[in-house]
Amino acid sequence: MKAELLSVGTELLLGEILNTDAKFLAEELSMLGISVYYQTVVGDNKKRLTDALELALSRADIVIASGGLGPTPDDLTKEVIAEAMGETLVLHEESMRAIEAYYQRVNREMPESNKKQAMLPEHGIVLANPNGTAPGCIIEKNGKTVIMLPGPPRELEPMFIDSVRPYLLQKSGKLLLSKNLRLFGIGESKLAEMLQDLIAKNENPTVAPYAETAGVRLRITASCRDASEGEELIRPVLEHIKSLVGAYIYSEEDKPLSQTVAECLIAKNITIAAAESCTGGMFSKMIVDYPGTSAIFSESVVTYSNEAKQKYLGVREETLARFGAVSRETATEMAQGIRRAAGSDIGVGITGIAGPDGGTAEKPVGLVYVGICFGEKTDVLELHLTGNREKVRYTACQNAFFRIYQHLCDC
Ligand code: ATP
Ligand code: MG
Repeated sequence: MKAELLSVGTELLLGEILNTDAKFLAEELSMLGISVYYQTVVGDNKKRLTDALELALSRADIVIASGGLGPTPDDLTKEVIAEAMGETLVLHEESMRAIEAYYQRVNREMPESNKKQAMLPEHGIVLANPNGTAPGCIIEKNGKTVIMLPGPPRELEPMFIDSVRPYLLQKSGKLLLSKNLRLFGIGESKLAEMLQDLIAKNENPTVAPYAETAGVRLRITASCRDASEGEELIRPVLEHIKSLVGAYIYSEEDKPLSQTVAECLIAKNITIAAAESCTGGMFSKMIVDYPGTSAIFSESVVTYSNEAKQKYLGVREETLARFGAVSRETATEMAQGIRRAAGSDIGVGITGIAGPDGGTAEKPVGLVYVGICFGEKTDVLELHLTGNREKVRYTACQNAFFRIYQHLCDC
């Protein structure tokens, strides 16, 4: 089966947004064993969109279009596809009700123009959109399939996973079962090297690493008749992977590191507090992102200036004068200070130079110290991070979480 992607939107052509929908869809399709030979980007223009669609239909079995399903006049993907496929648009009652319910849920009055979104191809398979208003749709005709999806990734991605993926699997008569492992402390290329044999074999199940902003995801995918056969196929491969790189794996359930740590703290009833300088509250936010954290988290402080570090954490003036705010010693005192002030089991102190300015030869941008105080013991990580300000701060938090995770595994 061959598929072609049709990304619709003038914003894409102007370079205003990155085509992450195409990246997502291409990756998903390749995992489904569906070949993608062409991807097209086309603006919101009836003639050019029609031409692009016809060309795509001439060389692929399945065309997946994204974007242009909204209520405004420039959104014309659905109209163009319906016309090309010889379909008329009719009111789809269920979608109309879902759109009305969506507006009620977000407490806004439904604009009249939104009714347009409930007009759908008469013989199409309608795909519900719980995260927005535009439903997706599948049209099958003369051995060809056109699938249209809304542009916003937070609508398109769940719609693909929940509705399109099962549809495509059924169409190909296959079931794919995946297990996603998350790893930290090892780069994608190093991981690929260590798992070289498994990856190169490209057998069933397949093993593929994907780099993330900080950390790596490893996906094991089995092609199988049913879930239990898939699990049987995955189990020995998973064990093999664990024997090689088990120390880096923090989740076998595809959970983010911060969530893994938050859940672990809750399960073990271990409290935590942080003193944050360069991360400005990011670490604490990442804990509070998960429900139920009030059981283990009551406070943190952002101490950006030297004065604040002294005032709230009791960092000593001579420590700051002698070693500087970005130092092993200051991170230690920050971690110990916040643990004392909050009365928590774990105290975390993060201080560093996130850039782009402020670096020196001795203390370059990307130098971050993370102090982690567990009981009487304080560990300090010295990190030399790369990337922009946002990435340095995020990676510093991830490193702190991973060290805490390792500690929690031992206690
Ligand atoms: P809406 O109902 O929001 O208008 P839509 O289906 O009509 O959705 P578009 O109007 O084409 O989609 O795009 C809406 C937004 O979705 C864009 O501003 C952009 O943020 C995002 N988006 C659209 N296409 C893509 C894409 N290919 N990759 C990433 N994001 C996209
Ligand atoms: Mg739109």
